[in-house]
Amino acid sequence: MGASTSPALKAFIGETFRSQVYEDYGSHELGGVAAECEAHAGYHVAMSDFVVEVVRDGRPAREGELGHILITDLRNTVMPFIRYQIGDVGRLYREPCPCGRESFRVAVDGRLQETIVTPAGEALTGDFFQDFFHREAGVKHFQINQKRRNKLEVLLVGKRNGERIDEDSVARRLGEHVGEMRLKLFTVKGITPEASGKFRHVKSTSFSDFRL
Ligand SMILES: [Zn+2]
Repeated sequence: MGASTSPALKAFIGETFRSQVYEDYGSHELGGVAAECEAHAGYHVAMSDFVVEVVRDGRPAREGELGHILITDLRNTVMPFIRYQIGDVGRLYREPCPCGRESFRVAVDGRLQETIVTPAGEALTGDFFQDFFHREAGVKHFQINQKRRNKLEVLLVGKRNGERIDEDSVARRLGEHVGEMRLKLFTVKGITPEASGKFRHVKSTSFSDFRL
């Protein structure tokens, strides 16, 4: 809880312990809100304790549509959390899960502040970028800095020391997703963590364009 697990880390843990990796979802102030099942198809909401909503543009998001996650805690009578905006974006699924359980599921796409809204209005989430760079074989770490509304600076760390990353071909593939945005890619030795000690994959300046 607290930070999401990258696809690579999840695969590593699963292989190391020869077991399935299950994640749960919640926060320090709410505790555990939802948890994965064996189908790994989103987190099942603990509906007896929490109401989880996903909204965008002032309306409930459609089944599987990206929006802001709001959480109401039904049990905490001391410090009420009512439609609390947790700061994550995700999707809600009301359909029964392949595992057979019928509780609503929430899929979390990342922090709102790691969401980049393109000039065309498309929202690219932190998870989108993590998945994208996970598929780029030569890239170990990345960081995206949004310099202007239509300009992204991308820092890349290679898998092996000194190995050259083909920045042009990475830029070409990424360009298919970011539309009109200009991309500047740099290969660097390492990426500096924030003062908090956490790494930020995406520093967005357009996330507030994604309307609640
Ligand atoms: Zn399930």
